[in-house]
Amino acid sequence: MTDSPALTDPDDMFDAASLRLTIDLQALADNWRDMARRSGKARTGAVVKADAYGLGIEDAGEALYRAGARDFFVAQPEEGATLRHYAPDARIFVLSGVWPGMESAIFQHDLVPVIASEEQLAFWMSTVADYGDHPCALQVDTGFNRLGLPLEEALELASDVSRPASFSPQLILSHLACADDPASPMNRRQMETFRQLSAAFEGVEASLSASAGIFLGPDYHFDLTRPGIALYGALASRSQPMATRPVVTAQARVLQIREAQAGQFISYGATHSLSRDSLLAIAAVGYADGYLRNLSGHGVSLRQTGLPGANGFIAGRNVPVVGRITMDMTIFDITDLPRGTVQAGDYIELFGANIPIDEVAHAAGTIGYEMLTGLGLRYQRRYIEAE
Ligand SMILES: *Cc1c(COP(=O)(O)O)cnc(C)c1O
Repeated sequence: MTDSPALTDPDDMFDAASLRLTIDLQALADNWRDMARRSGKARTGAVVKADAYGLGIEDAGEALYRAGARDFFVAQPEEGATLRHYAPDARIFVLSGVWPGMESAIFQHDLVPVIASEEQLAFWMSTVADYGDHPCALQVDTGFNRLGLPLEEALELASDVSRPASFSPQLILSHLACADDPASPMNRRQMETFRQLSAAFEGVEASLSASAGIFLGPDYHFDLTRPGIALYGALASRSQPMATRPVVTAQARVLQIREAQAGQFISYGATHSLSRDSLLAIAAVGYADGYLRNLSGHGVSLRQTGLPGANGFIAGRNVPVVGRITMDMTIFDITDLPRGTVQAGDYIELFGANIPIDEVAHAAGTIGYEMLTGLGLRYQRRYIEAE
């Protein structure tokens, strides 16, 4: 296969695309500055794992670096290696730690592994003995029971005078389990445990809070905060006072407008019968694009929420999904729009400035995080550059 010459220009490709993602890097930069303001005296990092929550680690990483971020968090060393080109002198922490075979990537790209277990610690000690000294960070579990040294082991390590001189983490970190619920007693418990730990590792920077934790107030900020989702314009929790600015707009092309009569059925399973003569817009997006089948208007037995399904936005109005979402296509009911306002070839917004991503996620019984990281490969992307 050869590329069609007419479709190699990114702008042409965007204009012709069935599916479009517009990513506003100015909003991303503004959201980072907003999180920096809310982090008070603490430094503010940026979490860019999973391809910057699906938005593209290259462009997002560069925009965050330009906005002033100098502490980045990735999940894997491969992500850190990519980011390094866009964040030349930043600290890049690798949350999954370090494994045999990864050392060369860690050293070559100057990444900081976040050591999370006794095994990793032992491996890292032998690595620095071979390769020479290199910064690392230490994750400690304070109640999440995911990654991290148990508290007692970490405290022992802090007071161990025989600890190798080369083991001096640059950062200790822990992760809150319930920061999305400000009323949860887990928050204070974890924070106080972490404070004790931070005192034991005197002189070492400490980091506890992701996006939701930043909203819990200064007690939770320590030296460095780690916002992810708030940067990308989605809610860290439904109790968060307000969302940051939307960053992503997803649009699908309307492939066909069709008239259907009262009593007819829609989509697989014929789960929805029309109660009135209707006008339908068939849009080029489906569950293969992360437009989850659980967003269907009707006929998805697994959806537990009892909610009606998603809305799209077109010609100034919300229009509901009807019937089941299919792999490549979704059917929207546009009967309530004046005839002729929508044409085949127009674009319908799936989420963005008019439909908050969290509203769509909620309709599917999930969270904005999952919508963003599951967008799939078929979107043409356009980045709006930050000033
Ligand atoms: C993903 C992650 C974050 C960012 O969380 P958000 O809720 O997206 O802000 C911070 N810290 C750790 C350890 C994480 O795994």
